[in-house]
Amino acid sequence: MRTVFPSPEVTPGHRPPLSARRKTSCEPIFSTQTANSLAMIIITRPDATEEQIQHIVSRIADWGLRAEVSRGEMRVVIGVIGAEDKIRQKPLGAFPGVESVMPVLKPYKLVSYEFRGTASRVKVGDVVVGSKEVVIMAGPCSVESEDQILSIAQSIRDSGAKILRGGAFKPRTSPYSFQGLGKVGLQLLAEARRESGLPIITEVMDTKDLELVAEYADCLQIGARNMQNFSLLREVGRTQLPVMLKRGMAASIKDLLMSAEYILSEGNFNVLLCERGIRTFETMTRNTLDLNAVPVLKAETHLPVVVDPTHGIGIRDFVPAMALAAVAAGADSIMIEVHNAPEFAKSDGEQSLLPKDFADLVRRVRCVAEAVGRAV
Ligand code: PEP
Ligand code: MN
Repeated sequence: MRTVFPSPEVTPGHRPPLSARRKTSCEPIFSTQTANSLAMIIITRPDATEEQIQHIVSRIADWGLRAEVSRGEMRVVIGVIGAEDKIRQKPLGAFPGVESVMPVLKPYKLVSYEFRGTASRVKVGDVVVGSKEVVIMAGPCSVESEDQILSIAQSIRDSGAKILRGGAFKPRTSPYSFQGLGKVGLQLLAEARRESGLPIITEVMDTKDLELVAEYADCLQIGARNMQNFSLLREVGRTQLPVMLKRGMAASIKDLLMSAEYILSEGNFNVLLCERGIRTFETMTRNTLDLNAVPVLKAETHLPVVVDPTHGIGIRDFVPAMALAAVAAGADSIMIEVHNAPEFAKSDGEQSLLPKDFADLVRRVRCVAEAVGRAV
């Protein structure tokens, strides 16, 4: 049985190598041939006892299947994962305490809302994403220097951000653009974490860099361009680090959910989904921030939803409006690019907020959050 939160093996600044943090060595939960796997949901009766629930869970494990237990206010939902032929033979409805049993018919199973029957919370460092609090992530597009990242980390923390972002490996449209500081960038992020106390999120672009990035990151970012890099999705799925999966610029909401399914199917349920704008025929903005995705995702999946209005609109002056709209639409978190000297930024300066404008935005986000029953 898994708990919603990852085990606290990921202590900032002092980590065992990734190989040591993988689930039971390198074994995925089920083999990488998941085509035959089925997810079944057991809904227990409101008066089911803890003993009955534990009995069901241990019987599922005895059969070589896996149980994922979610505790709601009224009842417990048990998700069963395993090979279709195995699950179908089992008399899941016959256990005392069971009210009903049904298969997940959607193509995405483990990410579907009904699989858990309740919203998941994902812990990044000590910060919980997916609760009443709207979590603000902020920081520069790229880590550029010690002064830059330390100064930005301190100012965004003082304004109310809870997670520091910053790219060390940068996916750039042109091979001639700044590609990020790589390992040095990660070390600077770790220093900024020590100084500010904020957990860090940073992008991993390639499976060959995962071991390195995972030694530093509190949350791995999979960028829009890599949303369907299935080998990378499987690899991050074999860690227990939180992963923020960004929607590809030409990907449907369903594509995003199917990509997330890759990560969960390897055993990592600590996934955040991020809407960051899609390509449309519109040319007045960098992308079109698809805020439709927020309520749709909240209905379709138990995973928390992050919105990145910075890349979504791509123009500094318009970022705040879309950030407020994202919170009003129900986002669990927003990610904002902030730079202390945007005119000198090595990437995305034109869409980065100045620290003082970010501070002002946080004040306004707080008002909107309260208006929709959330908090900052
Ligand atoms: C980023 O967050 O800086 C980034 C490159 O994002 P995306 O993958 O959404 O373009
Ligand atoms: Mn950027």
